[in-house]
Amino acid sequence: GPVVKFDDVKFHYDADRPILKGISFEVPAGKTIAVVGPSGAGKSTISRLLYRFYDVIEGKITIDGQDLRDVTQESLRAAIGMVPQDTVLFNDTIAYNIRYGRPGATDEEVRKAAELAQIGHFIESLPKGYDTPVGERGLKLSGGEKQRVAIARTILKGPPILILDEATSALDSKTEEDIKSALDVVSANRTTLVIAHRLSTVVNADEIIVLRDGQIAERGTHHRLLVKQ
Ligand code: ADP
Ligand code: ADP
Repeated sequence: GPVVKFDDVKFHYDADRPILKGISFEVPAGKTIAVVGPSGAGKSTISRLLYRFYDVIEGKITIDGQDLRDVTQESLRAAIGMVPQDTVLFNDTIAYNIRYGRPGATDEEVRKAAELAQIGHFIESLPKGYDTPVGERGLKLSGGEKQRVAIARTILKGPPILILDEATSALDSKTEEDIKSALDVVSANRTTLVIAHRLSTVVNADEIIVLRDGQIAERGTHHRLLVKQ
């Protein structure tokens, strides 16, 4: 897989308020790096910069040495799968929502992706609350379940780089556990950046970066960070 590198990245939304004050880290090929830190620290901003919703203001982000600003939007979208905090689903079956990741996929491939994301049991259901005619297949999805639909979609798409911005909403421990195992499956052999709102979901990350006040305050394995506390 590709190597993603942040090199002294600085960013602000408003000029008088720096958000990232010079962030450097590497996501090695096929590894998983998690970014944790208090709310407002700039974690999601990191994911938005990598997906190029915004451009860095100083410093650079590279993929295999190539500056992100020199990568076409098209090849960037092909290379990176983004699982956002809040997934908006189409008003159709879960299977339809997953197939959107790769429209040519067979039913079998859609089913397989759903099973890997642990939602194989409800792919024929319709997500409720999206103006869906509430029938017997209507199913109210939690934030975590919607996120697993997005994970299944990304598994099907199969990009070499993955960004997962964890749901911020409170999840019950079962959902949290399900997301953790779905994440372990989808991140295997992909270069993965996880924006984590809970340390418990990223125990298996190769490295955890603690972001505080726009800077990297600490980094290490889950084990090392826990021991240090
Ligand atoms: P985190 O993910 O760590 O909670 P974010 O990266 O979402 O933090 O946000 C970092 C800071 O930037 C927050 O203080 C937030 O209010 C601010 N922010 C986020 N998005 C915008 C925006 N589009 N315009 C202005 N400020 C923003
Ligand atoms: P979330 O609250 O789901 O983490 P974001 O990460 O997008 O949402 O934003 C984090 C914070 O940044 C929120 O408090 C939000 O109010 C603020 N924010 C987001 N977009 C903007 C914006 N365009 N201008 C100012 N503040 C923003």
